[in-house]
Amino acid sequence: MRRPTEASSQVRAAPADSASGATGTDEAGNDRPRSATLADATTADAEAVLADLVEAGAVDATGDDARPTDGFDERRRAEIERLRALSLEDLAAATLAMAPTATSAEPVTEGDRAFVVCSDGSGEPAGEVWIRRPVAVAETAAALALAEATDLPADRRAVAAHGLSVFLDDCPGCGTALETRKAGGCCGPPRTDADGHPLRALVCPDCRTQFVAFE
Ligand SMILES: [Zn+2]
Repeated sequence: MRRPTEASSQVRAAPADSASGATGTDEAGNDRPRSATLADATTADAEAVLADLVEAGAVDATGDDARPTDGFDERRRAEIERLRALSLEDLAAATLAMAPTATSAEPVTEGDRAFVVCSDGSGEPAGEVWIRRPVAVAETAAALALAEATDLPADRRAVAAHGLSVFLDDCPGCGTALETRKAGGCCGPPRTDADGHPLRALVCPDCRTQFVAFE
């Protein structure tokens, strides 16, 4: 497992990432209603995520480093393979099924970027969550694997699915090895945590998808 020392703090840092999704700026600095993740649609206590994952047998935290258990990792990889082969429309439907508060999910393509746009039905921009396709694949796959393996309710499952993105090695969209970089992208403002410290993020250097930000 790469990034062993960062793993547990990354999971706990999920709230900072989720909150920053509301700033209206995506990883490339473009204005967006939301550029975000499945977890943004929930109010579940992200502090409890790691404990949830350990209790569910999805993450092994007995050693120095938290890491997914082999069984869970296999299940998630299989779901990633299945979901990445779907059309954007079918991926949107699969994502909707795992999104706790969304009432609809639309496939939207802008330029070379594909999104699943989840909406809570309010018709307000704040009720929309724009999820990059590779993020939708990764988090929906993790949520499906969690649904199979655990009794977690949908909201905690979505937060956990986002937290599990710290354990991705390759981009579920294009297969490129992910890198840790400063969060915020090349042209956007630097992203910071609640105390003003710059965040780092796990990003795909090829399609520039950001999967998770952490301190
Ligand atoms: Zn990629």
